[in-house]
Amino acid sequence: MKPVLYIVIPCYNEEEVLPITAPLFLDKIKELVSLDKIDDKSRVMFVNDGSKDKTWEIIKDLASKEEHFVGITQSRNRGHQNAVLAGLMEAKELCDITISIDCDGQDDINAMNEMVDAYADGCEVVYGVRSKRDTDTFFKRFTAESFYKLLNSMGAEVVYNHADYRLVSSRVLNEFANYKEVNIFLRGMFPLVGFKSTSVYYERNERIAGESHYPLSKMLSLAFDGITSLSVKPIRMITGFGVFVAFVSLVLLVYSIVQHILGNTNDGWSSIMVAICFLGGVQLISIGVIGEYVGKTYMETKARPRYIISERTYDEK
Ligand code: UDP
Ligand code: MG
Repeated sequence: MKPVLYIVIPCYNEEEVLPITAPLFLDKIKELVSLDKIDDKSRVMFVNDGSKDKTWEIIKDLASKEEHFVGITQSRNRGHQNAVLAGLMEAKELCDITISIDCDGQDDINAMNEMVDAYADGCEVVYGVRSKRDTDTFFKRFTAESFYKLLNSMGAEVVYNHADYRLVSSRVLNEFANYKEVNIFLRGMFPLVGFKSTSVYYERNERIAGESHYPLSKMLSLAFDGITSLSVKPIRMITGFGVFVAFVSLVLLVYSIVQHILGNTNDGWSSIMVAICFLGGVQLISIGVIGEYVGKTYMETKARPRYIISERTYDEK
């Protein structure tokens, strides 16, 4: 039996891009159907992430004209990760496999053929990995690659150069639904679920239209969220650093006592100032990092809904 595929596409203020890329996704579905790889009940599912422009109107219009298009909308903007999650959780009841992809045409949709083939070969998760980033500016490439290195060095294991272009079977999504955390970082969480997985490689293109929603500031906060929601390594590093500082202080203590006995205790003003300032800074940073975790714990204990779907272009089952 052929699998039903849902392509899940988060959209935030994409009125310029959607009319261009939507037909491309539709063609891909039709191509895969005609190649006998997927069932004709397959759909392109747009998740409107509380856009402020005409995105939702465009989605509704697409859905009314073509049965392969469906859409859901979040009650307000919740960010990319939550939009993808909403789409995946909605789609898992309706299909056998999902592929999440951005709507801006940057990720090569032709990699989907290989993803679906990998599923047919028994893989439940297929990561889309960018083979090169020639079209990105040096700055974007450098910051993006540092992002993956930073995440991995901080104990948040992610697939290198994999964003959120990924095939996931509904079987895996049903298990994934048990990961109830509110702070979600999908690309770091799917590897935790396990199951047989593989990667397919593709070249990343330039955005077809509109602008990136991920400037450096958002990328840094995503990296920080990724690290703090997946690992406690920063806390451990602070502890390690504390041990190191304590050891250095001990050596200094012995040194001061020796100096005192030798009668050399004069001006030590500068060294005291340096030590006080340095330790003050280190302590503030450390409290800040620990505070992040406390804050996350606070958010998690509230267990607020991770997404709220306010409208669908179809009737809820
Ligand atoms: N997106 C979203 N909610 C947001 C920001 C972005 O759903 O708050 C969507 C956006 O429409 C796009 C995808 O997430 O489909 C990736 O965003 P973008 O292309 O701006 O990021 P980049 O590719 O530059 O990292
Ligand atoms: Mg993009």
